[in-house]
Amino acid sequence: MTLFRGTFLDTPRNPFSGADLRSGEDLGLVVQDGVITVRDAFATVAAQHPGEEVVDLRGGLVLPGFVDTHVHFPQVRAIGGLGMPLLDWLEKCALPEEARLADDAYAATVAGEFVSGLARAGTTTALVFGSHFAGAVDALFAESARVGLRVTSGLVLSDRILREDLLTTSERAFTEGLELAKRWHGVGRNRYAVTPRFSLSCTAPLLESAGALMREIDGLWFTSHVNENTEEVDAVRQLFGCDYTTSYERAGLLGLHSVLAHNVHPTVPELRLLAQTGTAVAHCPTSNAALGSGSFPMGLHLQHGVRFALGSDVGAGTGFSLFKEGLQAYFVQQLMGRRRGGHRLAARHLLHLATSAGADALGLGDVVGDFSVGKELDALWLRPADGSTLDIALKHAVSPEDALAKAFAMAGPGDVAATWVGGERVPPAA
Ligand SMILES: [Zn+2]
Repeated sequence: MTLFRGTFLDTPRNPFSGADLRSGEDLGLVVQDGVITVRDAFATVAAQHPGEEVVDLRGGLVLPGFVDTHVHFPQVRAIGGLGMPLLDWLEKCALPEEARLADDAYAATVAGEFVSGLARAGTTTALVFGSHFAGAVDALFAESARVGLRVTSGLVLSDRILREDLLTTSERAFTEGLELAKRWHGVGRNRYAVTPRFSLSCTAPLLESAGALMREIDGLWFTSHVNENTEEVDAVRQLFGCDYTTSYERAGLLGLHSVLAHNVHPTVPELRLLAQTGTAVAHCPTSNAALGSGSFPMGLHLQHGVRFALGSDVGAGTGFSLFKEGLQAYFVQQLMGRRRGGHRLAARHLLHLATSAGADALGLGDVVGDFSVGKELDALWLRPADGSTLDIALKHAVSPEDALAKAFAMAGPGDVAATWVGGERVPPAA
């Protein structure tokens, strides 16, 4: 048993439905076998559990571990390729690096950098776009199992348009995916996601083989991209003769275990289809801005009841921190306003999108996402350096919501002093 002491902020109820931020100042959490069993004033908890180990996290904020719903493992070293739209960026920046993961030793090094990058940013759960190479996907799962993060990932599939060395066939995709899923799905905190790259680079038979794999093993996840860039959206319509979302729906890929990244340019029928099937959207605001893809119509997603949460989309996104993604989402929605399909946000919405909304999108809403009794303790300790501007701002915050706004305005990975998953502190990189 361990007692955690600090100021805990979380969003157990949805701020988009009007709920407030929850704040516990000098709160005590009792954690047993990774699960929060008691939540009360620290003085009360300490009196009831004398002599137990106390993890003292005063002097900063404790937030639920971040949930990144869209991030590319092979693109750690591709971050920062600015000045290109999606399809140019893929060809010149991302795909040459992705091809290097054919080398198992190279892939293992990148897997270490990737998992460490997530943990340093305070991310404890992620839906990860894996690699086109099975050996590299093994390396990712092995590293996430070693470190203990909650990773859902899989083999990335394409059979057209991309460079030759990244292409597969429907049969090979099914066989390799089945082997990987048998090896890793449900092992520790790992889960397997069937991951066609995007409809643009996948023929209908490849998408159908992805759907067949989903039906082969219970509980698998599906992830891909949708409606990111107008040129790409037009090309998909030409290829499939239907809208982008329907190209996945025809292969049986949409449902409560499905997450599609971006959806910057959806039609109304697509929003309805996403809502009807329960498919969630990963909103990746720095990527959308960096590639000039467009502005995410958050208001329309809310209006149609489509679930969404934040994703970093590293390497088109500009880093692992969901503080930065939250701030960028805030900026864009602030500029769009309601008339252009936006939705103005407060700090509590940003925390929700970085934590509980992500947990919900990934089917982990009963396990993590906030600090309620019965949930596992996944947490990040935001503890900026003494005298830093963020430290001064937090000390002078007038309310918990104000402190949270200051955190989203200024915090980065360097301000995250430690992270825990299931009550265990995440170890440093190997
Ligand atoms: Zn992506």
